[in-house]
Amino acid sequence: SLVPEHAELHLLFSMVTPVGWLERVPSYKEMVEQLGLESPSYGLLGYPLLQSADILMYKPQWVPVGIDQVPHVELTREVARRFNNTWKPIFPEPQARLTEIPKVPGTDGRKMSKSYDNAIYLSDSPDAITAKIRPMITDPARKRRSDPGDPDLCPVFDLHRIFTPEAEREGCATGCRTAGIGCLDCKGVLLTHLLPPLGDIRERRQHFADRPKEVLEVLHEGSRRARKTAQNTMEEVRSAVGLEP
Ligand code: SF4
Repeated sequence: SLVPEHAELHLLFSMVTPVGWLERVPSYKEMVEQLGLESPSYGLLGYPLLQSADILMYKPQWVPVGIDQVPHVELTREVARRFNNTWKPIFPEPQARLTEIPKVPGTDGRKMSKSYDNAIYLSDSPDAITAKIRPMITDPARKRRSDPGDPDLCPVFDLHRIFTPEAEREGCATGCRTAGIGCLDCKGVLLTHLLPPLGDIRERRQHFADRPKEVLEVLHEGSRRARKTAQNTMEEVRSAVGLEP
């Protein structure tokens, strides 16, 4: 990291965080189970604690996250409380702030994630996006075109909630419930509304991909500003725990 203070705060947090708190973090349990790990590393166990350091370093009141990250923000509050009670009240107890659509589904209906190979990338071409949306999983009740479905059980409809204007979205919902439209029609409507905004983002992304020097400058400038705040926080922290030279 260009802000090495994060590693130091992580280390100090590890002194007051019981192992049990980290072992019950759902993403840790999932990883251990999925990868069949018999002897997981501290790197995996302690990763959410590093996230707590990343958050608390900047003393926020709110943390904008997806719903799967809420347990990490809860852990962060517990760590802040424990630190404040053990040494000195330095950190706020931040709350998670969710968007209206707190989870973006991937093409297989699970959370969209690179590691699940179910993601639509911001660099994907319109053809690539279309090829991913067409076979996307839907409400399993709609086996045949004549079977009615339930949009609330369909990950395609979650994407409609993000991209499709209300009137057309409601049209799709009614068509789904009455088997008035097929899933491919419904996905066609989604693509009409999903491709243009992703096209704008793809263009903007390409602008920066063509200018790596500009990206590095932005990163260095951001890190320089972040480090100033991090250094102030660490001065307070070192003084609180008695680590001053
Ligand atoms: S019609 Fe649309 S909302 Fe209904 S199951 Fe098919 S894709 Fe999903």
